Amino acid sequence: MKLSNNFRLSEFTRSDTAKRLGIENECSSVEQVLNLAYLCHMVLQPLRDRFGPIRINSGYRCPELNKAVGGVANSRHLRGEAADIYLPTIEKGREYLTFLKTLPAVDELIWEQKGDTYWIHVSAKRINE
Ligand SMILES: [Zn+2]
Repeated sequence: MKLSNNFRLSEFTRSDTAKRLGIENECSSVEQVLNLAYLCHMVLQPLRDRFGPIRINSGYRCPELNKAVGGVANSRHLRGEAADIYLPTIEKGREYLTFLKTLPAVDELIWEQKGDTYWIHVSAKRINE
């Protein structure tokens, strides 16, 4: 299923951890899919249009997967509102960050690091609560 010009739903549910642990990481509501589509349209597609192909490390997480990867209990990944973007280099990461800061739909923008691996966590909220 296509979410925007260059993004498919499968990119947001694919997870090595889920595969390894036998967790079926699929969206369980239309809301979650709509949230992912919004994130694509408002944030990830503009980033892609500017920089070329980008890779999503983690998008939607079902509760079981979120627990397995040590995600916080109220993680935006659970609602399909967040994505972790793979950074080929720190340099490129900085460019992504600078660009993402200019997008009004972005509400969480976090530079994350684990050992030598860096990624950007970004979220967008479709409905104001
Ligand atoms: Zn994240």
